[in-house]
Amino acid sequence: MALLITDECINCDMCVAECPNEAISQGKEIYQINHKRCTECVGHYDEPSCVQVCPVDCISPDPAHRESLAELADKYAQMHY
Ligand code: SF4
Ligand code: SF4
Repeated sequence: MALLITDECINCDMCVAECPNEAISQGKEIYQINHKRCTECVGHYDEPSCVQVCPVDCISPDPAHRESLAELADKYAQMHY
């Protein structure tokens, strides 16, 4: 599934450059993840890179956008090939 940034985000900007899919941007109040571009880093890294750099642990799975590993891999392929 895609990941979601919660309202605990402190707008530190650390995650944006780490996302290999350009899925993260600054929203009105906090940063946001475009669920259509987030693959949980499948295809790039073993772990979600945004989660690893976030200093306040405010990035979690988005229950509204559940996807299997195969679906995430397919999303990656569609974006990059
Ligand atoms: Fe980007 Fe990966 Fe974070 Fe998804 S999990 S927003 S693809 S860095
Ligand atoms: Fe917000 Fe975490 Fe991204 Fe910083 S790294 S902008 S706190 S989601």
